Amino acid sequence: MHAHQRVIVAMIDGLDPAYLDGGTMPVLTGLGAQGTSGIVDAISPTVTNANNAGISCAAWPAEHGITGNSYFNPATGEADYMEDWTHLTQPTLLERVTTAGGKAALLTAKKKTVRLLGNRTTLAVAAEEPGSEFTDRYGPAPDIYSAEINHWLWGVAVDLLATQPDLDFLYVHTTDYPMHAWPPGDPRTIAHLRRLDELIGEAVAAAPDAAFFATADHGMNGKNLVHDLSQALANRHAPVRFALSAEKDRYVKHHRTFGGTAWIWLHHPADESNVAQTLSSLPGVETVLRREEAASRFHLNPDRIGDLVALGDRDTVFGELPTGRESEQLPQEYRSHGSLYEQKVPLFASNNADYPYTRQPSHNKDLLAPLLGAWTIDS
Ligand SMILES: [Zn+2]
Repeated sequence: MHAHQRVIVAMIDGLDPAYLDGGTMPVLTGLGAQGTSGIVDAISPTVTNANNAGISCAAWPAEHGITGNSYFNPATGEADYMEDWTHLTQPTLLERVTTAGGKAALLTAKKKTVRLLGNRTTLAVAAEEPGSEFTDRYGPAPDIYSAEINHWLWGVAVDLLATQPDLDFLYVHTTDYPMHAWPPGDPRTIAHLRRLDELIGEAVAAAPDAAFFATADHGMNGKNLVHDLSQALANRHAPVRFALSAEKDRYVKHHRTFGGTAWIWLHHPADESNVAQTLSSLPGVETVLRREEAASRFHLNPDRIGDLVALGDRDTVFGELPTGRESEQLPQEYRSHGSLYEQKVPLFASNNADYPYTRQPSHNKDLLAPLLGAWTIDS
């Protein structure tokens, strides 16, 4: 017998609530209908690493330390990816489970997630680069830039739940490549989500005793304008030391690393008002916050964001463009996230008798909050 109810977590990357319109995922919504379901807020900036860390630690970025996909390293003067477990300032629930003597597995589409969340797990596999023990059993994984990679991943989850009943905690993180590629209602979207939904049903059937939890890291919207803020500010007599899209990661094909939140580092503190005013004058820049304002409003670690924070409107993103080009119109099919307009995400929980909510979750990082006290060394 298990001391704890088993747990299945579906972190469905980029699952904007609009993707559920028209009943695309009847199993998932049915599970929520039996338990807890709602639309909640994601963590800002609405990028994957900040939210994946938030969901798996059940904590704010001020607590877990991950404020985006990248950060500016003043020592090198360059951006570094914020995707290593050593950047976490709090243990994940996977780590809490194994520290308490349980078994926890991380299944993810992306290699970067193993580096960020895979520390001290019993098992951590990225479909992008699975070991031969996985490809021998499940066949080769589809390309990282595909919808099918998510189906492969959930196929592994179903098998692990059926064959390893002593696995206490299973965290499955899919890729949002299909959401970047296709809008809600597109036939390719529907094919992706319908199969994903069937596989979630198979996973729950394979572990009927398990508590089931699901949410997303951010929504997704069409975008039509990108600014390179370093160039745009320099061209307006407001040069800055560094400007960084909080979304910048290694997966350029998804979104060319453009996102709706930018951090800006100043040359001198005295530049602040000039730079802030110039930023505010750019089309599509909706809000400019000082470091402390942004840290307090979004529960961020102030040491890991810029001196200023720019938030785009619904249609505008930030990133790096070729020298000599400060902005660009984006193609009609371009979709991305990172702004306050991708904050709404669905949340579902069912069969979670051992992990009841003491209050209705308001954020995706509350999904696993009931588990925080459940795993202790003494249990
Ligand atoms: Zn994401």
